[in-house]
Amino acid sequence: MVGEGGKPKAMIVGGSIAGISTAHTLTLAGWDVTLIEKTSSPSTGSPTGAGLGLDPLSQQIIQSWLSHPQILHNTTFPLTIDQNNATDSDKKLSWTMTRDESFNFRAAHWADLHGLLYNALSPNVILWGHIFLSFNIEAEKGSVIIKAVEVETGKVIEIVGDLLVAADGCLSSIRQKYLPEFKLRYSGYCAWRGVLDFSKIENSETITGIRKAYPDLGKCLYFDLASGAHTVFYELLNKKLNWIWYVSQPEPEVKGTSVTMRVSSDMIQKMHKEAEKVWIPELVKVIKETKNPFLNMIYDSDPLGKIFWDKVVLVGDAAHPTTPHCLRSTNMSILDAAVLGKCLEKWGAKKVESALEEYQFIRLPVISKQVLHARCLGRIKQGLPLPDREPFNPKSAKPEECQELLQRNTPFFNDVHFTI
Ligand SMILES: Cc1cc2nc3c(=O)[nH]c(=O)nc-3n(C[C@H](O)[C@H](O)[C@H](O)COP(=O)(O)OP(=O)(O)OC[C@H]3O[C@@H](n4cnc5c(N)ncnc54)[C@H](O)[C@@H]3O)c2cc1C
Repeated sequence: MVGEGGKPKAMIVGGSIAGISTAHTLTLAGWDVTLIEKTSSPSTGSPTGAGLGLDPLSQQIIQSWLSHPQILHNTTFPLTIDQNNATDSDKKLSWTMTRDESFNFRAAHWADLHGLLYNALSPNVILWGHIFLSFNIEAEKGSVIIKAVEVETGKVIEIVGDLLVAADGCLSSIRQKYLPEFKLRYSGYCAWRGVLDFSKIENSETITGIRKAYPDLGKCLYFDLASGAHTVFYELLNKKLNWIWYVSQPEPEVKGTSVTMRVSSDMIQKMHKEAEKVWIPELVKVIKETKNPFLNMIYDSDPLGKIFWDKVVLVGDAAHPTTPHCLRSTNMSILDAAVLGKCLEKWGAKKVESALEEYQFIRLPVISKQVLHARCLGRIKQGLPLPDREPFNPKSAKPEECQELLQRNTPFFNDVHFTI
């Protein structure tokens, strides 16, 4: 199949971090790329999403796609410390269990990172407002044909190419075609999330209080563990505080195609009351003053045995739904994209299947271990049972048990070999 300028043609479904990252790497590998995204337009710095952490390798990879690499630093905040605190909910006391000062991540707001990535792409790559419907493989011609519908007009379009990349997230419909029995695994907990914009209340009691209680905000990834619950919080650029609070509960009965739940003001009030019982007052104030908190149901899946079939390949959450405890989801997506691009560049368009084979060979062992580690770490931090061990108790944990909480224990933490 010949794309624009005689190039091989790739279709990507999904215009979030994994899809846009793959559009960058495939373009750099010499492919003509069309990306289909169902949302009608890119978010314009609106409160879409919340915070995420970028590891050093992802930072380097992203910078290699930007004409001015410095922009990444201007769009993100340092996260140089990984700290785990314990909270005694009765006494309303918090103390440090572990502190790693050699953490080298950066914090980004999802919408800022997303904007940075798509603005660095050629504008005609992305078809916003198009829902992917189906695909067919034409074995004889060695091509893939996809159908998508334009939301506004209802017009159905067909695109023919040499490769289909599924970047359609943890509920991927493309993956479902190959794995009809696939089901996500509910983790046992949901996460309340929010971003407090403190630009107009910088000198308020809330902000001076939280800075006093957590003096390294602005460079620290704070985890706070209470009995049967934990929070994560860190500062983002432009005077924002990102927080997540994991709450153990049965799987909510929600029908639909999202893992984010609509919340009522009644649910928010109940959450505020519960926060008062669990967390220190400084953190409670931040939670209470945050507008529009939302609730994510936390899912993952056992690692997949395969992440490509024919000329169809999975990247990002479609390839490895994961719990968020090791800050992996975005970083894995960026590395998937980078490795896929390098493999396609190496093997050329005539040997797409060899390229996909090598991509799977490189990525599958890494993502599989990271998904399982994140699952285990989440259960430890949430005080949930694990085989052959007592639930973690932050009030009585021994120092060697606390060491398990560190981010740097993530498999392949410093050990992913990839040359840009
Ligand atoms: C709006 C939004 C906000 C987010 N905010 C955060 C955050 O604050 N912090 C964080 O850590 N992670 C966030 N995430 C998740 C994070 O982006 C992902 O977990 C990770 O980066 C891997 O992403 P992904 O691209 O594989 O999947 P996802 O981010 O889930 O993206 C999948 C994309 O595919 C599109 N899509 C799905 N089906 C179709 C279809 N049939 N046709 C066309 N398009 C389709 C979706 O609209 C979506 O854009 C957010 C994701 C989204 C979509």
